[in-house]
Amino acid sequence: MSFKVPFIRPVFPDAEIIAADMRRIVKANWYTNFGPYERNFSNAVASFIGEEFHAATFANATLGLMAVISAGLGRGDKSRFILVPSFTFAAGPQAIDWCGYRPLFVDIEPDGLQPDLDSARRALSEHGKDVAGILLCNTFGIGNVSVDAWERLAEESGLEIFIDSAAGFGSAYADGSRVGRAGHCEVFSFHATKPFAVGEGGAVVSRDAEFIARLRSFQNFGFSPSGAGATVRGLNGKMQEVNAAIGLRQFEGFEAAISSRQLVASTYEAELAGSFFQFPAGMARSAVCFATARVPTHEIQVRVLGELREAGIEARSYYSPAVHDQEYFRDTISSGSLVETQRAVSTSISLPVHQQMDAGDVDLVISTLRKAAGLI
Ligand SMILES: *Cc1c(COP(=O)(O)O)cnc(C)c1O
Repeated sequence: MSFKVPFIRPVFPDAEIIAADMRRIVKANWYTNFGPYERNFSNAVASFIGEEFHAATFANATLGLMAVISAGLGRGDKSRFILVPSFTFAAGPQAIDWCGYRPLFVDIEPDGLQPDLDSARRALSEHGKDVAGILLCNTFGIGNVSVDAWERLAEESGLEIFIDSAAGFGSAYADGSRVGRAGHCEVFSFHATKPFAVGEGGAVVSRDAEFIARLRSFQNFGFSPSGAGATVRGLNGKMQEVNAAIGLRQFEGFEAAISSRQLVASTYEAELAGSFFQFPAGMARSAVCFATARVPTHEIQVRVLGELREAGIEARSYYSPAVHDQEYFRDTISSGSLVETQRAVSTSISLPVHQQMDAGDVDLVISTLRKAAGLI
């Protein structure tokens, strides 16, 4: 089915511009393995977050997550857990599994979308000695307002904390600092569906230069920089030159792209104020991959999703099913009943947000939702 208003509409550099970059790459005859485009792009990613940061690019964010867990915690033997929300994309729990750990699912905040500190505290009091680390998620790329409290919890518990901020490149925390500055590191995706789109790509950002060097070794077969061959576990996770070239082009106009997405999100919020639609705290400070609204009941979610579909608007219900309800993870243990996760799954509606979104499309989404909420 094709929709008048698609859920995601990636905006790529002009084909001619990509072609000109590709001509330079072919002329240099250097396609991958930390070439000049990759080096420039990883430097640009790091300095976008802040002066004191370092970055490693990846072929995708999932490989970045695997590198972070492997380089940060070493290989597990399935006897230990990594705390992670179930209300997330399966990539994080899959990376945990690949690295030899088991996900221990925590709930999200009551009536919120971000991982819940109390649920994590309960998981630590129940399984503390078996917990190896924390994979926090900045849900939907929105900077967690409690990120400093999460860092304190990790420190008090002697645990590493890594953050899956996949959709959050360009987002800000409540204090105005960039998402990317927190935890031991943050992981971004540049998948075609994210606000900063390269096609397939990812990056890990950290203040810890030595850690970033270990990630580079992991993504290059575990080879040591001295050329002595493999010294640690590794795989091939490198970003190729053409993707890095597209990434460098996406930096041009990126601030304007984010503002245009934020304008759509804040227009949705303003036009639906006073209705039953509730938007998450901090959404308008984020890079706004899409806009997720909560409604009071599952019946309303089903009805509104149907009305959006009728109007030609592609909306989604994320993250449905939550990871603990996906077949491969059914036997995984959780902290408590994940009641808020279940509630979010059954009452959230994710709405399309495009870069430079057509004004008529924004109006159509708003009028459909206002009608659904009985405002008109
Ligand atoms: C998109 C996404 C990923 C996966 O990113 P890839 O680059 O496709 O591997 C991981 N985690 C979250 C939360 C995501 O939204």
